[in-house]
Amino acid sequence: MEQLHAFLDFAQSSPTAFHAVRQLADQLEGAGFIRLREADPWLVDAGEKYVVTRNDSALIAFSVPSAGFAPFRIAAAHGDSPAFKLKPHFEDVSEMYVRLNTEKYGGMIMSTWLDRPLSVAGRLVFRDGEGVSSRLVCLDRDAVLIPHLPIHFNRKVNEGYAFDPRTDLLPLYGEGGAKGGLLAELAESAGLPVSDILAHDLFLYSREKPSVWGAGDAFFSCSRIDDLECAWACTQAFIDASPVNYINVCAIFDNEEVGSRSLQGADSDFLLNTLRRVGASLGASSGEVFAAFAGSFMVSADNAHAVHPNHPEIYDPQNRVYMNRGVVIKYNASQKYTTDALSAARFTRICEKADVPVQHFTNRSDLAGGSTLGNLSVSHVSINSVDIGLAQLAMHSLYETAGTKDLSLLIRAMKAFWSDTAV
Ligand code: ZN
Repeated sequence: MEQLHAFLDFAQSSPTAFHAVRQLADQLEGAGFIRLREADPWLVDAGEKYVVTRNDSALIAFSVPSAGFAPFRIAAAHGDSPAFKLKPHFEDVSEMYVRLNTEKYGGMIMSTWLDRPLSVAGRLVFRDGEGVSSRLVCLDRDAVLIPHLPIHFNRKVNEGYAFDPRTDLLPLYGEGGAKGGLLAELAESAGLPVSDILAHDLFLYSREKPSVWGAGDAFFSCSRIDDLECAWACTQAFIDASPVNYINVCAIFDNEEVGSRSLQGADSDFLLNTLRRVGASLGASSGEVFAAFAGSFMVSADNAHAVHPNHPEIYDPQNRVYMNRGVVIKYNASQKYTTDALSAARFTRICEKADVPVQHFTNRSDLAGGSTLGNLSVSHVSINSVDIGLAQLAMHSLYETAGTKDLSLLIRAMKAFWSDTAV
């Protein structure tokens, strides 16, 4: 439970991918990881550990065994979650109200965003000397809310209502006189003059506190379990593991919820460039780096769908997974998940040695299911990979639910993955 509460603190103070990456990078630096900048030349040493960020919303940490260059053991997760993003001009003043103009980021369950206290967080980019700088911001107070129409004016709301993000989902910020107030609040909270703010990446987030609940405290709920649970668990395991036969790598990408195609997404050159630079700095030729890829192994860690208690018929009859029953290996014949028999067996063997149970998930054969970051990452760095995750309910709700026992099992499995000596 101690690990779970540490995770819940982390999740609650990570309203956006920027905040998640900053917290994880700070934790890694605190644990002795040396901060590198992509824009600088790198001098990587055997026996040392490093962390590099991109766009302040993605990070890659790596640790080098004392023997120097070696194949890679990589885990990747994502730090972003579905949310509503504020537009450049975000104020809409009409009918005595100030509302915020937003657009969807990712595929959320829209109804879960209504009638609950929300706030605003992200980054502000401001005038700084001759150039610009950015600063993270989090209002950390109940600032906005998206009210439902009363049922008296929408009698069909319980018969499957199609929410329109252009009208139904615009949050209320204040009365007419509050025009200009939100940017002023954000600037003040970031310690900046409003007039210096040139641009922003701002998102709504929920203020609902995490909860541990149910018989025997079997479940917990909070926002952004997908995929902060895997991102946090992988990072904790990574900090604790010492590299033996491999260069250990932990990557947290951004923009998985919108397809990963960005500077800082899994479908970018971030991972490939980092691995090549590590090899070059350790004196490996490009041929040796390619040979290392052939001997490497990757885990793509993104949460999985536990059987829903009210809809067990949606799931595959044989390959279905439950909360508190261990780490999930995900399979898809069309390779939306990277898992094959070899990678599944290699990961199962690692879990066996760590005494961590595994479960197997496929979609029901007539349902498409979702996608994740593993196959996109592998299209850039083509190494044997397995897709895994922890079983959860209500994925992409603003308040998701998972099992209290699984987090520590994933940490144990990933620690074994990064400490493993098998080739
Ligand atoms: Zn995810």
